[in-house]
Amino acid sequence: MLNLIYMQGKIILKKGKEYSIERFHPWIFSGAIQETVGDLTDGCWVEVLSHRNKHLGAGHYQKGSITVRMLSFDGIPSSDFWTKKIHRALQLRKSAGIPSDSTNAFRLIHGEGDGLPGLIIDVYNGIAVVQAHSVGMHIDRNNIVEGLKQNFQENLKAVYYKSQTTLPGKDRENFSDEYLLGMSGVPHLIHENGNRFLVDWEEGQKTGFFLDQRDNRKLLSTYSTGKRVLNTFCYSGGFSIYALVAQAELVHSVDASEKAISLTRKNIELNGFNAVANACFAEDVFDFMKDKQNMYDVIVLDPPAFAKHRDARHQAVKGYQRLNVEAMKIIRAGGIIFTFSCSQVVDKKLFYDTIVSAAIQAGRQIKVLHQLSQAPDHPVSIFHPEGEYLKGLVLYVE
Ligand code: SAH
Repeated sequence: MLNLIYMQGKIILKKGKEYSIERFHPWIFSGAIQETVGDLTDGCWVEVLSHRNKHLGAGHYQKGSITVRMLSFDGIPSSDFWTKKIHRALQLRKSAGIPSDSTNAFRLIHGEGDGLPGLIIDVYNGIAVVQAHSVGMHIDRNNIVEGLKQNFQENLKAVYYKSQTTLPGKDRENFSDEYLLGMSGVPHLIHENGNRFLVDWEEGQKTGFFLDQRDNRKLLSTYSTGKRVLNTFCYSGGFSIYALVAQAELVHSVDASEKAISLTRKNIELNGFNAVANACFAEDVFDFMKDKQNMYDVIVLDPPAFAKHRDARHQAVKGYQRLNVEAMKIIRAGGIIFTFSCSQVVDKKLFYDTIVSAAIQAGRQIKVLHQLSQAPDHPVSIFHPEGEYLKGLVLYVE
């Protein structure tokens, strides 16, 4: 059943603060607010007005530096709000050819990129994993499920709500991850560009699989044939499988997590390859690379976000630099490095500069062959460039 969306109060902006909202910027900071009207509680819907009482839109209220996350810029949302938003997101993916006969896992909602700040939804072959990053999305979770049902009908097998680690601190209490629809059970088989993967959203990292690297994995195939490939920070072996399918001579996969390595082994076997010959190591990447001089032609570096906040940025940059120096030092002449950063606070330019200084330190001749980003089912609102979080470079090391 579709529920009416109830506006619990109003936010009136200071003079001049309406312009960024008129340009569809998704956030209202506390400093932009002149007055709040009504008894506002975290997660409620509010109507947003200019200082002259002009209607600007509506969004989720949450006390803090970002006080309102804008969800609508045209009128008060009606009861089919979630259905329509999800429909629009599906249209965008369709235009990018996602899903397809060979790919049945994709990101359906990418927060600000889909006009729904605070919400992530990944769909794994009929099962939606919903992740709320704001109290408003948490409160609206059953309406979101209703919107999913309206769009997918009988093709929606289950909805797993996984927000234990993403909700603000106090809202995590008295709540655990759960199925809001159906019961599925993990691991679950998906296809990505014809490759098979087991996904475990209950125990796995994030929503279970890193869908943002889909196109970059495909690009790795073109560099892997006949090569010795090292996939570091491999998680469930995404890049490893593509390199194997492209007939790499061998692929070694490294991750600090035993669970991740066990999934990688399963995924290697699932795609018809040998997980002994293509060894997987549950080890720290920095330790692993120490004594691997001249062993690999292709190295993938896809670490977790070294910095989640601005104040950790300096340390993060040092981490990226050290990692890349090590890889640049050990790779064979004529080798290829796929290097990534998914830290939002390290932007494209800073990442590029970090790689330049790593190259200087490693003392090798290096050329940039590709500049990479996230797959198109992780769209970036042009008015919210911070949404472009994944940066990658493909380097040729002479
Ligand atoms: N490339 C992966 C995603 C990487 S996520 C994919 O395509 O699916 C980052 C991974 O790095 C996680 O699995 C985490 O367990 C691992 N990790 C974090 N720190 C590590 C370290 N110091 N050494 C090895 N692995 C590490």
